[in-house]
Amino acid sequence: MTEKKIRCRIAPSPSGFLHIGTAKTALYNWLFARSQDGAFILRLEDTDAERTDEQYVDAMCEGFRWLGIDWDEGPKFGDEPQKGAYGPYRQSERSHFYQREAERLLQEGKAYKCFCTREEIDAMREQAAREKRPPRYTGKCRNLTPDEIAAKGETPYSIRFRVPEGETVVEDVIQGPVRFNNKEYDDFIIVKPNGAAIFHLAVVVDDGLMEISHIIRGDDHLTNAGRHVMLFNALGYPLPKFAHHPLVHDEQGRKYSKRLHGANVLDWREDGYLPETLINYIALLGWTSEEEGREFFSLEELKGMFTLKRLTKSPARFDRKKLDWLNGQHIRMLSPEQLRDRVVPIMRKHNLDVDARQQEWLLEVVSICQEKIPTLNHIVGYTDFFFERPATYDEKGTRKFFEKEESVLWLQTAIECMQQADVWDHQTLKAQYEADAAAKEIKIGALVNTTRLALTGKTVGPGLYELTALLGRDEALARMERALTFIQQQSGDTQT
Ligand code: GLU
Repeated sequence: MTEKKIRCRIAPSPSGFLHIGTAKTALYNWLFARSQDGAFILRLEDTDAERTDEQYVDAMCEGFRWLGIDWDEGPKFGDEPQKGAYGPYRQSERSHFYQREAERLLQEGKAYKCFCTREEIDAMREQAAREKRPPRYTGKCRNLTPDEIAAKGETPYSIRFRVPEGETVVEDVIQGPVRFNNKEYDDFIIVKPNGAAIFHLAVVVDDGLMEISHIIRGDDHLTNAGRHVMLFNALGYPLPKFAHHPLVHDEQGRKYSKRLHGANVLDWREDGYLPETLINYIALLGWTSEEEGREFFSLEELKGMFTLKRLTKSPARFDRKKLDWLNGQHIRMLSPEQLRDRVVPIMRKHNLDVDARQQEWLLEVVSICQEKIPTLNHIVGYTDFFFERPATYDEKGTRKFFEKEESVLWLQTAIECMQQADVWDHQTLKAQYEADAAAKEIKIGALVNTTRLALTGKTVGPGLYELTALLGRDEALARMERALTFIQQQSGDTQT
């Protein structure tokens, strides 16, 4: 017997940006599908027309793209036409399926027409509240006879699912068997009086007709899963496997609010994080590797080692420090060329005239920052001084290095070092600085930091000798002289 093909899906509602929780769900489905040679499907749950916006569809798809989560089947996106044999992939285009399946349930007696009006339902709810019962539908229309139904004529009706007696068990890969007494559910509506399918019907019909084999999603859908299992059975679809994973919590342990910066996956791109970092980080938000203690994973590696049984049950708390650390590590793991290609557009956006420079020089400039920058965006502050002379000097730095009694001596010594360097490269500069510091009994730190402030206007940045070498001898010396004049003017000013 051939095994049924693994088919997983992500089914976002395009009513907002790509939330980090949705990205996590998508990643787990994608990894599982890829690790099993299965298919990964993108389906848009866009039936809520008021909340759906094409701009969110684009933002979501773009988020997936950025992360490297591609789909084998899905709706039209940008220039790409719809792909896959189970379409359409937007719920708004699938209402005929929902109608057909609801009709089937009606005919089989597994659903019934409910003619209760809004007012009647509200009255039932109030009555239940007075009697301190949960607000369930009383079942008024459950057993209407065909004559009674015919007598309703054109009266609008909703369609309710006839919840069977007994117990429903959701066999969940992560949670274990989750049992629901069917009494906990009332006969829920599956089609509204205007003919629109309710989420529960739509999602089950879609999963059933699309032959989804595994439903991996957030555990906020666990209670829904009871309803879904009943619907799968009633519709005669094979039951998929369920895996409900915990939601992502923020650093305070609350559900990661949409309003927080960073809830939108693309915020991280904006902030200079790598997609590799996010993938690595999100993977570890709810999954552990069999290799204990291992922290670095690429998408490719994850594909080979992902298993559902290593998904964790406890909520994942967002840890910004860990994310930042991972981002630094992933920046170091890029090749210098890859890093250059990623940061050059950022530098250009910040008006650094990268196009006037040689590629080789740019590569070196970027390389000396690779070990230092925590995010791609930091490249700007770490390299802007290469493109223009510092307009000001860091205030704290000025007090520490330019306003000391020895400041002039430090600068002059550094200038001499530069003048004496017979080759203009970082090794020679380093050797010269160290020799002069020792000869004049000046702390090397004082020489280095004074030079850094003079050349860059800052107190942090790439390695000093490396940046000095790349700046070029003439430019470096010009900046040193400029700083010397500045110091002398400052002390002149304070003396008068
Ligand atoms: N549209 C639902 C959501 O975004 C997904 C439902 C499901 O995965 O079954 O939460």
